[in-house]
Amino acid sequence: GVWPDTIPHAAQAAARRWPDETGLIEGDRRWTFAQIWDDARASASAFLASGIGRGDRVAIWAPNSREWILAALGAQSVGAAIVPLNTRFKGQEAADIVRRSRAKIVFAPRTFLDTDYRALIAGEDLPDLAEFLFLDSDWDSFVARGRGKDDPAVEAALARLSGEDICDIIFTSGTTGRPKGVLTAHAQAVQIFGDWAVRVDLREGDRYLIVNPFFHTFGYKAGWAVCFTRGATIVPMAMFDVAETVRQIEVNRISFLPGPPTIYQSLLQELAGDKPRDFSSLRVAVTGAAPVAPTLVERMRRELGMSNIVNGYGMTECGAISMTRQGDDAETVAHSCGYPLPGIEARCVDEQGNDLPPGETGEIWIRGPAVMKGYLDDPQATAEAIDAEGWLHTGDVGTIDARGYLALTDRKKDMYISGGFNCYPAEIEKLLAAHPAIEMAGVIGIADERLGEVGKAFVVLRPGMQAEEADIIRWARANMANYKVPRRVAILPALPRNAAGKILRTALRELEEKTA
Ligand code: ATP
Ligand code: MG
Repeated sequence: GVWPDTIPHAAQAAARRWPDETGLIEGDRRWTFAQIWDDARASASAFLASGIGRGDRVAIWAPNSREWILAALGAQSVGAAIVPLNTRFKGQEAADIVRRSRAKIVFAPRTFLDTDYRALIAGEDLPDLAEFLFLDSDWDSFVARGRGKDDPAVEAALARLSGEDICDIIFTSGTTGRPKGVLTAHAQAVQIFGDWAVRVDLREGDRYLIVNPFFHTFGYKAGWAVCFTRGATIVPMAMFDVAETVRQIEVNRISFLPGPPTIYQSLLQELAGDKPRDFSSLRVAVTGAAPVAPTLVERMRRELGMSNIVNGYGMTECGAISMTRQGDDAETVAHSCGYPLPGIEARCVDEQGNDLPPGETGEIWIRGPAVMKGYLDDPQATAEAIDAEGWLHTGDVGTIDARGYLALTDRKKDMYISGGFNCYPAEIEKLLAAHPAIEMAGVIGIADERLGEVGKAFVVLRPGMQAEEADIIRWARANMANYKVPRRVAILPALPRNAAGKILRTALRELEEKTA
């Protein structure tokens, strides 16, 4: 193929092709691609010295940093898979994943967000865990265990490493149930995200500020790992901070900046402030997973000078699926997540699995090299997700238009039927958020004698605002189709959300059962 076979081989190829170019900038320090590869091999040697090898798992539970990348490359070089953990996890969530993945080492920060990560999992039963190391303060002493960059055992391990080896086990966000461990092989990861990088126009010499967390596919495989295939500079950011982002843009001439819409809003505010700002280096923005308004897309083009603004669709089970392209109008970027990457087939089907005509709403099915190897230790769930012909049933409901562009409506599991009409909670939540007093809403279907099901909304009010159930229902009647109007509204101080920030409608359903 056109891409290297594995993530470490991609880093090695970058070191050969661009040895003296800047591969990584952290704070005020810089490393060339050749130095990154030297450091990665020294890291690999330390893993071998620590008894880690083929088929082992290493968990990384830490914010974005250079050491995160070196730990990942080192572990992967010796044939181990990495298991990234969300830094916001509490002890039980992290322990569950460490236990299920049988990770032998956990790397966590000594300090981050005032959290003592070691104390969080100290009382948990983790039979396979041999070591808990601080990724920040223990890194140098960890590397010193090995024989350095020229360890012949690392060369041998790299020679055995193949595209079919598992590179990572990433757990899904747990929005619809218990997180599932997704097994991905090296070759598919490099290919899919290499193709992703071409589509979004990541170029040699680009400066890529990575605000998306490394523990998600987006910050890791579509983040630092693709920089090796394109020759772009990795600029990791541990936590989004406006002042530091502005500094990075101005000092390091950031050109490539994916992130949630709020980041671009903050930059627009900075531009409107008293201080003159130079954002002329910015070129590419990539959003996804959160709605972006067409007016924001326009302002990003006009005021931030970002010529390429991309929206995309992805899920842990198949990496990146589809992206919009440069030149798509603001409406398309805002409302569609683009067309599939090369080699990926997408279908939109009805309940019986028959293809629907363009524009009709159904479940999205995906086939191609992006589809995972399977769920960790769960052949039954794997067989339910991937059918005999290799189609991944995504569980997402959406449309595919005549051009082949996908748009997402909601998750299949959350849809309910009211008086014969399909209701999509995500859509109703968006409509409710336009109410002046509503900060956020979560909607579920509840049983109803007459209509089969009706919607119930759980809402959080904006600080200092007041509204009663009856007011909100009256307002909804004037602002949405009758079948979408929630028949019940409960006002809550906060909504249950997972570590990825997604509203947990399963928790709302449990709450409803308890109080009904
Ligand atoms: P779980 O599978 O454990 O319930 P999850 O599906 O939230 O959790 P992820 O794999 O992190 O875990 O998220 C993928 C999901 O995110 C997709 O299936 C889809 O529902 C949603 N998503 C992805 N891209 C977009 C997008 N551009 N717009 C809206 N939703 C998106
Ligand atoms: Mg999912």
